[in-house]
Amino acid sequence: MKKLFFILVAALAFACNDTSAIDELNVENQSVVANEPIGTVVSEDAIVEGEELSTSLIFMREEEKLARDVYLTFYELFEAEIFENIAASEQKHTDAIQQLITLYGFTDPVTEDVRGVFQNKDLQELYDLLIEQGSGSLVDALEVGALIEEVDIKDLNDAEVYITDDEVLLVYNNLLKGSRNHLRAFAGQLELLGETYYAQILDDEYFTDIVNSEMETGGMMSGDGLGNGSQHGYGMGKGNNREGDGSQPKDGSCNNG
Ligand code: MN
Ligand code: MN
Repeated sequence: MKKLFFILVAALAFACNDTSAIDELNVENQSVVANEPIGTVVSEDAIVEGEELSTSLIFMREEEKLARDVYLTFYELFEAEIFENIAASEQKHTDAIQQLITLYGFTDPVTEDVRGVFQNKDLQELYDLLIEQGSGSLVDALEVGALIEEVDIKDLNDAEVYITDDEVLLVYNNLLKGSRNHLRAFAGQLELLGETYYAQILDDEYFTDIVNSEMETGGMMSGDGLGNGSQHGYGMGKGNNREGDGSQPKDGSCNNG
């Protein structure tokens, strides 16, 4: 089961944002552009870039929602505060993406915000599987949390290779910072429970660098995941013994006006 699960998640991560998949998308887009009459003269590059931007934002909008929905469900099941705190952070992430979607006039995939319901079929399948995978025990749920953050970090890093829009990059960087904090928090909680989390998606060295470094602050993600046992494990928490619940009111001030 665990193996199957990993393969599916890995496949999803690759299917969605792997550079080769993006190359394929480019080729596909170019042929579409070449074959269809276009009313106004727009360069092919601009069209391809616009498609990439909308594809990325629409996907990330639901990926952040997926994280929120999984954590809310696990919070109900296990009443571990870490899930409530990080779910609140994911709400800010998905909201930030929604703002960008609105800003650029793309179509928001979240028409009705219903927990556990996704327009993207891969994300729908992943959600169902993650809930199943994590529902057995708190440890399973925390491992699913860490895995979600790994996938999120990979997808955001991959997107940053081809996204050129400054506004989007700023938001993605903030989301990445939040995701690294969440990964630290989940790995730290598992450590407290006597479990060691090993990277399933990211390369080992990159993963180890993240969990061995301090919680990051600044931007709209400030405070995310703090107070969730981050002062324990992995050598974190030099003077980082915050008591907060990660709910510092730092959100909404990230987009520089
Ligand atoms: Mn997130
Ligand atoms: Mn996260």
